[in-house]
Amino acid sequence: MKTVGTGQTRAEGTSTEPSGTWSPDRSSLASTSEKQVWINGQLVPASQATVSVYDHGLLYGDGVFEGIRAYGGRVLKMRSHLLRLLDSARAIALSVPYSVEQLESAIRQSLRANGLRDAYIRLVVTRGAGPLGLNPYQCRQPVVFVIADSIQLYPQEMYERGLEIVTAATIRNHPAALSPRVKSLNYLNNIMAKVEGIKAGCAEALMLNHIGLVAECTGDNIFIVRAGELRTPPVHAGILEGITRNLVIDLARSMGLAVREPDMTRHDIYTADECFLTGTAAEVIPVTKLDARPIGDGKPGPMTLKLIAAFRQLVANAPED
Ligand code: PMP
Repeated sequence: MKTVGTGQTRAEGTSTEPSGTWSPDRSSLASTSEKQVWINGQLVPASQATVSVYDHGLLYGDGVFEGIRAYGGRVLKMRSHLLRLLDSARAIALSVPYSVEQLESAIRQSLRANGLRDAYIRLVVTRGAGPLGLNPYQCRQPVVFVIADSIQLYPQEMYERGLEIVTAATIRNHPAALSPRVKSLNYLNNIMAKVEGIKAGCAEALMLNHIGLVAECTGDNIFIVRAGELRTPPVHAGILEGITRNLVIDLARSMGLAVREPDMTRHDIYTADECFLTGTAAEVIPVTKLDARPIGDGKPGPMTLKLIAAFRQLVANAPED
C-alpha cells in the first residue's frame, strides 16, 4: 500500500458524495509537486513512501496516529500531541522506536522538506509487517511516518454561519472494548457515524456513549455555553481527550470564563445557548443546529465568536511548547 501524499485530505473529508447539501472541499488535492514523506528515519518522495501489504496497521488497523498543526512555522502543542501518541501506543502495547525528540525532529524535517509553514501533519505508527494472523508480537518492526500537507475540513462559510449536525445511531466505542482515548488507526466506529451524518446532509455527527450520554463528534470534541459558562463532556464519557479541547478550556479560563465538565445528554445541547466543536483540523467551529433544531437563536453565539477570535490570535502568536 502506498502512503498517500496529496490524497491525505481526501481521507479527512470523504470520497462519498453526500445526499444533502454539504460536500467536501477538494482544493488541496490539486497540488502538483511531489511531497516528501519522512518514513522510518528517511525523507523520500511520497510515491516511494510505502508500507507492506502485510503491515498490521493495514490488515487490522493496528497502530496509532496524531493529527498536528503548524502555524507560521510553529508547531502547535507538539509535545502534547507526541505524549498522547506515546500514551496511545503504550495502551495498545506498541513500543515506538523513536524518542519524543526524534519525532519532533522528524516533524520539523518534514515541514522544511516541503517548504511548509502552515500545515497539517499526520504522524502514524503502524504495528509493522508480520505473518497473517492477529499476533502483534510476530511483527518485526513498527513503521513510523510523517506526512506534512494541508487540510481544510469545512468550508469557510460554515465558520461564519455555523455547522448543522445530527445525532448518529452509531454509538462511540464502549470504553471497555477499546478506549476512545486511544487514537488508533481503527476509526471505523467514527466513520460509520460520519456516513450517517453525510447521508443526512451534515458535515459532522454527534456520537453518544453506551449509556446515552453525549460523548463527542466523529472527529471533534463538543462544547456548549449555558448560563454564561462553558461545558464539555468529561473524559470518562468515552471521548478522545482533544488537544484543542484542552487548549480551549485553558483559553476560556484565562479569559475569566467558568468551565465545567458535567455528564451531558442531548437535552443539554437542545437547550444550550451556544454550541461549538474543537479539533486540530477543524480548529473552533460554531454549531447552530442539532437534529434540525436550532441551538439558541440559530446563529453562532457571542461567546463562541469570542473564543474563535482568541484561538486565532493564540495560534498566530503562540510560542512553541
Ligand atoms: N475526537 C475525535 C474522535 C478525534 O478524532 C479528534 C481529532 N480529529 C478530536 C476529538 C479532536 O482532538 P484534537 O483537538 O486533539 O485534534
